[in-house]
Amino acid sequence: MPELPEIEASKRVLAPRLRGDSLVSCRILSPGFCRNPSARRLEKLSGRAIRGLARRGKYLAIELEGSTPLILHLGMSGRLILDGRGPHERFEIQTTRHRLSISDPRRFGRVLFRFPKLGAEPLGPGFSPRILAELLRRRKAPVKALLMDQRLVAGLGNIYATEALFEAGVRPGKAGGRLSRAEIERLARASRRVLRRAVRLGGSTLADQAYLDPLGKPGRAGAAASLYGRAVGRCGHPLRSTRRLIAGRRAIYCPVCQR
Ligand SMILES: [Zn+2]
Repeated sequence: MPELPEIEASKRVLAPRLRGDSLVSCRILSPGFCRNPSARRLEKLSGRAIRGLARRGKYLAIELEGSTPLILHLGMSGRLILDGRGPHERFEIQTTRHRLSISDPRRFGRVLFRFPKLGAEPLGPGFSPRILAELLRRRKAPVKALLMDQRLVAGLGNIYATEALFEAGVRPGKAGGRLSRAEIERLARASRRVLRRAVRLGGSTLADQAYLDPLGKPGRAGAAASLYGRAVGRCGHPLRSTRRLIAGRRAIYCPVCQR
């Protein structure tokens, strides 16, 4: 959290407001949020016009005239705030008409000038069952961990990997290389469907209120989740969680609907 839908929803809120503005200043409010020498490069951005916003996986890029984009990553708990104030602000961009900041209590967020190496874009045109099959082939790791590995698939985290596996009827602990062709087809389709729906609903705001859009508005996808945050699935079956940890935590699944 935040995952692809929350970043996409934030991008859609920010893009029409920031496009055409120019950067006045970028300030790091918390040491370490931007590594040297990038911190020095930030100072040179003043006056550059914002051409638009783009997203890749869980990364948001502010595209600038005559410069590589400024890339924001919100880590585990960060959120963007437009023209407001929040606790734990780590980074601030002042434009000619707006102020954009990153509030990040857990400090895993980052400001970068280059995207890291990222895997397939699940909402991109190239994400097909064939691509997913190639990524999972001969892998012994649990399919959920593979879906959440940003070097393989960019944008899925715990919430939407959980939901996609439920909709595909596949257990999270199953080894990636052991999925049948039919399961891979269902999983590729379910991943796209789950993400698209969540984008449409403005992302997931859970009980902790960790995610709100840049204007402070909650997303509605959390309430629509089939498994996430529930003891009984939307299917009506009591849910279970894996005994072993997958990507650092127990994975929730429906023992009846997922095989
Ligand atoms: Zn079920």
